[in-house]
Amino acid sequence: RAKKAGGNRVEPYRPAFRTSGTERMQIETDLRKAIDRKEISLVYQPIVRLADGEIAGFEALMRWEHPKRGNIPPSEFIPIAESCDIINQLGLFAFERATIDLSEWQMAVGDLPIFIAINLSSAQLLNNDLYDDVRAILSKNRCEPEKIKVELTESLVMENPEQARLVLGKLRDAGLGLALDDFGTGHSSLAYLTRFPFDTLKIDKALVTDPSDKRAVLLRSVIGMARELDMQVVAEGIESEADAMQLGQMGCDFGQSFLFGPPIATDAVARLLRERFPIVRRAS
Ligand code: C2E
Ligand code: MG
Ligand code: MG
Ligand code: MG
Repeated sequence: RAKKAGGNRVEPYRPAFRTSGTERMQIETDLRKAIDRKEISLVYQPIVRLADGEIAGFEALMRWEHPKRGNIPPSEFIPIAESCDIINQLGLFAFERATIDLSEWQMAVGDLPIFIAINLSSAQLLNNDLYDDVRAILSKNRCEPEKIKVELTESLVMENPEQARLVLGKLRDAGLGLALDDFGTGHSSLAYLTRFPFDTLKIDKALVTDPSDKRAVLLRSVIGMARELDMQVVAEGIESEADAMQLGQMGCDFGQSFLFGPPIATDAVARLLRERFPIVRRAS
């Protein structure tokens, strides 16, 4: 696989990617300029407490509005960014943007008991500056580390488990939450739970919506295991009220899916929070 200019790693070929090699290189070139051109933004999807339906937090999800190709989903551009150095810049952009947005919501609505989940590519863990960069962003934007939950997927962590464990340990010691994303997809394995200090498990949509009659047994086991490990559990992609209720009864703490609300822009978040937390607003 061709090595990208300025890249410090070579990625395996990803056959699932729908574009050709030349197209991919063009997208990489465009992606390098996308932040400066203000084509990258974040949207936020509510994470809801199953016990009472209240909003517990939001996951920040990246969007790229390409001037010619329109909206390119993160499932396409994040792997490209990860195969070269762009992921570090994109990842820090998301961190910066999310902390600024959070501070703006707090100014508008009051000091809310909500967290922001930010996806961190495991490729970013290989960057020695990551921890210091994150700390600098948090202090610059006066963001309490406890309000941020970092979400991680992908086997890349295992490429350098010692480095990953060091950085994740430092983030946790600084007060940030750590969530293992997409659990049950094969990208995340049980070994991660023993090696890294995760406090939250996000069960992937594929398992949550599995049509098999073994689904309930698997979900109950996974949730039970997480709780015994003192982890909180988020179920992704819940499709019905009945499933939400069942997962709640199994001990799952949170749900995140179109059922509870799609990802929305930052000003829509402020409106939603004002509506959902009127008392906090009066007190502030
Ligand atoms: P993820 O972290 O697992 O995020 C959840 C994905 O599921 C999001 O897709 C969300 O829009 C989608 N989703 C939420 N509820 C439902 C539902 O009820 N049904 C279905 N079918 N889908 C639902 P999105 O925004 O396209 O992001 C895809 C992936 O791209 C994310 O998966 C994450 O791995 C990655 N990603 C997104 N933003 C970032 C980022 O800022 N940095 C990094 N490193 N990765 C990101
Ligand atoms: Mg995530
Ligand atoms: Mg996920
Ligand atoms: Mg995912």
